[in-house]
Amino acid sequence: MSTDQRQGVQISAFIKEKYGIEFPYFPYYPDPIHTKSIELNPGICDCCGKHSDYRHSGVIYSAIAPDGVQFCPWCIADGSAAQKYKGTFNSCGTDIPEDVPPEVLRHVEERTPHLETWQDNDWLYHCADACECYGDATREDLLAFNGEDLETFLKTYCMSHEDWAGYVSVYQPVMDPAVYKFKCRKCGKLLYYMDFT
Ligand SMILES: [Zn+2]
Ligand SMILES: [Zn+2]
Repeated sequence: MSTDQRQGVQISAFIKEKYGIEFPYFPYYPDPIHTKSIELNPGICDCCGKHSDYRHSGVIYSAIAPDGVQFCPWCIADGSAAQKYKGTFNSCGTDIPEDVPPEVLRHVEERTPHLETWQDNDWLYHCADACECYGDATREDLLAFNGEDLETFLKTYCMSHEDWAGYVSVYQPVMDPAVYKFKCRKCGKLLYYMDFT
C-alpha cells in the first residue's frame, strides 16, 4: 500500500492497469499522464511537502501561489492544493447548463488537473454532469465526427464543410487551432470544442 493514498480518494484502476502505478482517480480527467497534465517529474510537492514521482506543473489560477508550484496528484485529487493556495485548476466556462450541480463544478475547478489550452480553458457538460476530458482530439476522432453534432460545431465556429475538411487533413494534436475531446460520463457521447490563440 502506498503512503501516498489519501482518505476519500479512490485509486484509478485504469492508471494502475496502463502505467502500473497507484494514482488517484480523477472522475473528470481519466488520464492526465497521457496529456502530460501530470508528468513523471520526481520532486517535492508544494502542498504536502512529500516526495512524488509524478507532479502537476500546469496552471493554478491563484493570487497567492508562487510561480512554478508543482503538486503531487493526491493533493489535487483531495482538494488540498486548491485549498492551500485558494486557487482553481480549471475554469468551468460560461456556457454551463443549469442542471449541473455546483459541487460538480467545484470538483472540476478544485480537484481536477488543469487542461492545457490556448485561451483560458473551458469545460463541456452533458446529462447534468461535467464530461471526462481527454485533451487534444486525435485525427481519427475528428474523421469520425459527423452528423448533427458536427453541423452544430461548424456553425459555432463559422466553418464550412470545406474549411473543416481542410483543417482535418492537416490536423495534429496541440496545433493552433486545437480541438479538445470530452466524453459524457453517463451516456458516452463525445463532445468537442475548438480553441485558438
Ligand atoms: Zn502533495
Ligand atoms: Zn450524456
